[in-house]
Amino acid sequence: MNSEGSELDTDFLSRTEGLQGVYPDWRGSNMTQVERHTNCPLAAVDRRLEDAHQQWHQAEATYFDPDAFRRNIQTAIQTLRSVTFVLQNNKRIIPDFDAWYEPWRERLKADGLMSWMVEARNRIEKQGDLEAHSFVRAAIVASYLEEGPEIQVPADLFSAPWTLVKNIPDNLLGEHLRQNGVLEVERKWIENSLPEYELLDAVAIAYGRISQVVDDAHRQMGLEPPATTNMLTGEAFTDGWRNGRLPCMISHRETRTARFRLSDGTPAELERKAVKFDAAEAERVSARYDIDPKNAFGSENNNRAVLQSLFETAKKMFLADRYHDSIVFLLRNGAPIHIMSLRPEDQSQKYLMMRGVADDVVRSGADAVIFISEVWISQADPNKRYLRAALAPDRREALTATLVAKDDGPVQMVAEILRDGNDVALEQTSIVTGHAAFAFAPIYKAWGKEIPQEWLGMFDESSD
Ligand SMILES: [Zn+2]
Ligand SMILES: [Zn+2]
Repeated sequence: MNSEGSELDTDFLSRTEGLQGVYPDWRGSNMTQVERHTNCPLAAVDRRLEDAHQQWHQAEATYFDPDAFRRNIQTAIQTLRSVTFVLQNNKRIIPDFDAWYEPWRERLKADGLMSWMVEARNRIEKQGDLEAHSFVRAAIVASYLEEGPEIQVPADLFSAPWTLVKNIPDNLLGEHLRQNGVLEVERKWIENSLPEYELLDAVAIAYGRISQVVDDAHRQMGLEPPATTNMLTGEAFTDGWRNGRLPCMISHRETRTARFRLSDGTPAELERKAVKFDAAEAERVSARYDIDPKNAFGSENNNRAVLQSLFETAKKMFLADRYHDSIVFLLRNGAPIHIMSLRPEDQSQKYLMMRGVADDVVRSGADAVIFISEVWISQADPNKRYLRAALAPDRREALTATLVAKDDGPVQMVAEILRDGNDVALEQTSIVTGHAAFAFAPIYKAWGKEIPQEWLGMFDESSD
């Protein structure tokens, strides 16, 4: 099977029975905490940073209470600013402090957001409150790319988001939007002098930068930086793509966003369910699928080798169950760190779900993602840009596993599904590289990885 001109569109049929028994060593993404050292010589610095973290959560918890939010976010900004003061007060115990700190000071000074934090703290202490205003941002989400119409208006203009809906054009694109689109309405606090950031997010990013300085101060003293660990499993999180932010400070956006399907106005909620390994289930499934769970990921720490092993397992499960759940594996350094099953009910949920997976990628520091699912395939019709493969008259079914990585992919393993009454068979597996894997666009964005021009070209060639 050739990917040239064919469009893959994941379709989600039903559930595979034995997921919980097949994939061992699940190391989930439960709540994390920062483990501060006891007897750390920099304990005063560590504590101050942790205070800022707690105050950030207080601001988050009072997001919809303007007075409380103002108090809490201002306190968090002041505390965060004081971390480097406390650090400088400890300069005697940090070897070569001046030579070590100077490059950091330069870096923070050159950073627009960090300069804003310094000014904001001065304003809070000397002049009074920040000028924060509440806005709503509304956008129509109807693809994996961020290309839908959007507006941002003061929060009291309550009906404004619906003008987006009223202005949907009466053409093929409009039809696609009305059928598969979601209206996303997000509440935001924005400060007058920092218009490009949502305020809570800005403070989370600033926390991350300061936390990196504190980590480095530990290293300068020959100490291990404080660890971010999963409380249940003890797994230590590497910093990955979080840039010093804690996993709990990523995507608080979810708590202040509401989404509605344009097709019927019902709320469009997300569901990404973690698959937890269950040893009892493992025994049952190894008999059912003729799989040894110990081998599900293969023996090599290599993304493409993991892709191959997972696809072999997926084929066995598919042939036994006659269907396969959609599952996502997050990997780091060639080894799986998180598994989720996805159960979107419709196309609009798929768009949202892949954005949610992208948040999980950032939180967990994953550098590769493997997505297994049944899909519909068809020849893409350049004249029908928004005709999804699921609806195409010549559609066929396939089982696929797709790998995208920070430095590789997309690589897709495809086995076409042949159905004959109740019997299923799989065609020989083919490997496709370099296809337009639009579903992964939000994950590319999380990695700061460009969407390949060829993909966009494939879009541009077709007309609305
Ligand atoms: Zn410490
Ligand atoms: Zn937290």
